[in-house]
Amino acid sequence: MKKKSPKKNISEIRGVKQTQTTNIEAIKQIQLRRRSLLDCETLFNNIIKGDRTALSQGITLIESAKHDDRVLANTLINKCLSRPKPQSIRVGITGVPGVGKSTFIESLGQYLTERGERIAVLAIDPSSNITKGSILGDKTRMMTLVQNENAFIRPTPTGTVLGGVGQYTREAIILCETAGFSTILIETVGVGQNEVTVNEIVDFCMLLKLAGAGDELQGIKRGVIEMADSILIHKADGDNIKAAKLAKLEFRNSLHLYAQKQSGWQPKIQLCSSLTGKGIKEAWQLVENYISITQSNGYFEQNRENQNIFWMKKAIENKLQSSFFEHPEIQSEITKQMERVKTNMVTPFQAAEALFDLYKSRL
Ligand code: GDP
Repeated sequence: MKKKSPKKNISEIRGVKQTQTTNIEAIKQIQLRRRSLLDCETLFNNIIKGDRTALSQGITLIESAKHDDRVLANTLINKCLSRPKPQSIRVGITGVPGVGKSTFIESLGQYLTERGERIAVLAIDPSSNITKGSILGDKTRMMTLVQNENAFIRPTPTGTVLGGVGQYTREAIILCETAGFSTILIETVGVGQNEVTVNEIVDFCMLLKLAGAGDELQGIKRGVIEMADSILIHKADGDNIKAAKLAKLEFRNSLHLYAQKQSGWQPKIQLCSSLTGKGIKEAWQLVENYISITQSNGYFEQNRENQNIFWMKKAIENKLQSSFFEHPEIQSEITKQMERVKTNMVTPFQAAEALFDLYKSRL
């Protein structure tokens, strides 16, 4: 007679299996992480060499909202930050759709790369966060510059990027600079709130305008004009030249209405045509003058330091906001408080205070 083997306790068996599976999973995770870190190291080494494909991959990584990607992105950024970087120039180029930004960037890019500069063009597209569509990204842009090996052009990201436009763009700038692209052009559409934010990213702001159309018609806000360090009356060619000259005069007369800039720089107005190339060189000359003035009066460095602090505070604000609104207890309580506010049972401020007290008590 066959001897029955002693019955194993079911939970024992399950326990063993579970532990084994968990261990295998854990080992897999560690292996995966090690591989990712190795990939990250390779990516970094290729970025340093100025490899544009690696740079693109790096930017894709920092755009990702996945937690694991975020960890790797931070590792990559830290590696980049720990390297001494050449002095870079970051310039914002703003203006309404149709003003000729991409044509201008093509001409300027051509001029700069011929002088031996390596340039990166990054775009901030305010429409992408709201409509998930894109003003900047939909058309074929900068066809010549795209093929220039001393230029790196990053198409507009669509959809919401973790931490907002600012975090993505700033991290992308760090990667571009690490890859040796020391002239960074940031293109913005010139209609949303983002133009004010771009001021917190760049050293110099250019505003492209058209002659013969009022600012309101062009959708340009006062804040956008105030932050401009140079205003280019664009498409100053052919039949437009006369109107462009007139617009320059009018603008010059109204500039004194705007507050004096902290940089000590007096904004300049120039004519420019990307079609004929007239004014491109002069437009860049202004940037260089500005950089040399602000580097010697200390504003250049101070501005970059202030920008770092601005983005640190912004990141804290973002984190606090999501921590608050994503808290399960706040989510259920906020609906109740909203009803009370609607029916004037409490003031909005009392409701906010009650919610904040609840949040603090759960920290
Ligand atoms: P963006 O939407 O601001 O990027 O504008 P685009 O660069 O796409 O230009 C819009 C239109 O203006 C295109 O048809 C261009 O050919 C035209 N354009 C751009 N620059 C100039 C210029 O300097 N002179 C003239 N006359 N037309 C231009």
